[in-house]
Amino acid sequence: MTTIAENLTLVRARIQKATHDAGRAQDSVALLAVSKTFGPDAVRAALAAGQSAFGENYIQEALDKIGALQDVRSQLQWHCIGPIQSNKTRQVAEHFDWAHSVDRLKTAQRLSAQRPAHLAPLQVCIQVNVDGGATKSGVAPDQALALAREVAQLPRLCLRGLMSIPDAAPDFVAQKDLHMRTQALFDSISAAKLPATARWDTLSMGMSADLEAAVHAGSTLVRVGTAIFGGRVSA
Ligand SMILES: *Cc1c(COP(=O)(O)O)cnc(C)c1O
Repeated sequence: MTTIAENLTLVRARIQKATHDAGRAQDSVALLAVSKTFGPDAVRAALAAGQSAFGENYIQEALDKIGALQDVRSQLQWHCIGPIQSNKTRQVAEHFDWAHSVDRLKTAQRLSAQRPAHLAPLQVCIQVNVDGGATKSGVAPDQALALAREVAQLPRLCLRGLMSIPDAAPDFVAQKDLHMRTQALFDSISAAKLPATARWDTLSMGMSADLEAAVHAGSTLVRVGTAIFGGRVSA
């Protein structure tokens, strides 16, 4: 059994090597620790090992955890990476720092309207469905620019970029191909000029199994659960 601290060291080394191999600047890729299904103690262990950004999929589970970690709230950054139903937008707006999974204007409008005035704007990414699948979350690639333009104008949100969760692919080349689709879309939206209120600097892609491919494709934020916290019993 390795500890969370040891796992974090290994994951950081993987990110550093991939960043170096890809010829990218050191520190150009941030690590989001995906703590879903793990309790507050796991988050505290990661925090003690220097990790401050955490991702959660399930809103109620996240609220319980955020509540249990209130004493260290100012040291933590909470990222919502799971689907956001309309009846959950208020909780996301009130308790999270980031939301990666915005894929409809209505969701974004509610998040903006419900973001409390005393908090910084909610940092958001638009989730894009780069490999089809009508049942998958995420906006279709050809709709992403239009959605980005609208989201960028919402007063209590700060638009940061794109997020994708491509299907598992068998090898590095196939993984990188999928991530390159998100990267190309990211660049094309960047070139299309968003309102000045957007800070288009984040490409949220890559997980435990494909973070190297994602870094080679330009990811700036990898979301890693299993490789830090171990296998999930149910997810
Ligand atoms: C669970 C999850 C992750 C982390 O996946 P691992 O394979 O455990 O690293 C990343 N992103 C999203 C959206 C997830 O739901």
